[in-house]
Amino acid sequence: MATEQIVQAVNAWDVAQQQFDLAAEHLHLSSGLRKVLREPKRELTVHFPVKMDDGSVEVFTGYRVQHNLSRGPAKGGIRYHQNVTLDEVKALAMWMTWKCAVVGIPFGGGKGGVIVDPKKLSLREVEGLTRRFATELSILIGPDKDIPAPDVNTNSQTMAWIMDTYSMHVGYTAPAVVTGKPIPLGGSEGRNEATAQGAVYTIQSAAQHLGIDVPKCRVAVQGFGNAGAIAAQLMHALGCKIVAVSDSTGGIYKAEGFDPSSVLAWKKEHYSVVGFPGTREISNAELLECDCDILIPAALESQITVRNAGRIQARLIAEAANGPTTPEADDILYRDGKFVIPDILCNAGGVTVSYFEWVQDLERDFWDVEQVNAKLHRVMNKAFASTLDMCLKQQVNMRTAAYLVAVQRVADAASVRGIYP
Ligand code: GLU
Repeated sequence: MATEQIVQAVNAWDVAQQQFDLAAEHLHLSSGLRKVLREPKRELTVHFPVKMDDGSVEVFTGYRVQHNLSRGPAKGGIRYHQNVTLDEVKALAMWMTWKCAVVGIPFGGGKGGVIVDPKKLSLREVEGLTRRFATELSILIGPDKDIPAPDVNTNSQTMAWIMDTYSMHVGYTAPAVVTGKPIPLGGSEGRNEATAQGAVYTIQSAAQHLGIDVPKCRVAVQGFGNAGAIAAQLMHALGCKIVAVSDSTGGIYKAEGFDPSSVLAWKKEHYSVVGFPGTREISNAELLECDCDILIPAALESQITVRNAGRIQARLIAEAANGPTTPEADDILYRDGKFVIPDILCNAGGVTVSYFEWVQDLERDFWDVEQVNAKLHRVMNKAFASTLDMCLKQQVNMRTAAYLVAVQRVADAASVRGIYP
């Protein structure tokens, strides 16, 4: 019980700052730059009313944090979750700064969140909440200022409502204010699959480096949302055996493997992966430790901790989620010879295609899916190569290597801009 409480108390912001401090130390960053980059530039907290279906009024709390804008406008998703905290949003915003820098796209880091379990709201209530939250954020967001996107429990419909609300306020249609929109509103081909597709490109690069034959691998995926379900399908299409998947209600395991597309159809009907015929029920914790070759955490933060890191069997861990591994767990995984593709690299395909979407919206010129994926592949391969190069040269783990690449780029931009006034 006590361990359980300690594990649950992992604070994502402490983790993010620890990861940054380690990189800053390696890079011998000046103390002034360290002080600047260690804190977010802006934090907005809003409490806003929403009319519920029964006629009552509920007040919700939401946040938008802009961590750093040295390299461009703030970019990052908005999540709806009952456990959202300001510290979590700060961490996620900081991770977005490094993520955009590691793949070399011209954005700073931002993130938003609302404390709500959207599964308990009707569609109309979620729309009301989204439109009012967008209104509260209108002092920050804009195509040149801060560009939200989907994250946990938000999707292209959420982005359509934000885009429409913002456009109503300014009096003209402004597609570039959000990314991850439906295609008819200026969304990009390939954006929905981009986080998973980018993760799969990095897995292929890592497998090549490690001499692993991808089609022979057994894969476990924690989280069956946009990133996890599509990653499972893409890995299955490459010939892998998907042996375990899970969602917030629990997980399923089958040593011989199963078809993730059928699991998705099952989940649509039963609102859970659990119960899928022919599989054994496992917990989310068991999934992480199951017998597999590639583990894809694609759910929430702080899942791999001191408590379970030593029992992970996968050789390759591909972080499709943001912040799934704590710094102490990183040390254990490194000691045990596990190869971790860190979140800021592994899941950067999402924000990379968001950047493509933003460029297409601003230019009013749209690309086909082959073009999008070819460009994404180039960006991911280049980022993976720079990170691996840093990892081998500096003899550090892949996370620290990705941080060294990213933090140096942000530090260079911040220092050449100088301190105003
Ligand atoms: N929410 C995604 C992430 O964590 C995408 C962000 C974006 O596209 O701006 O990377």
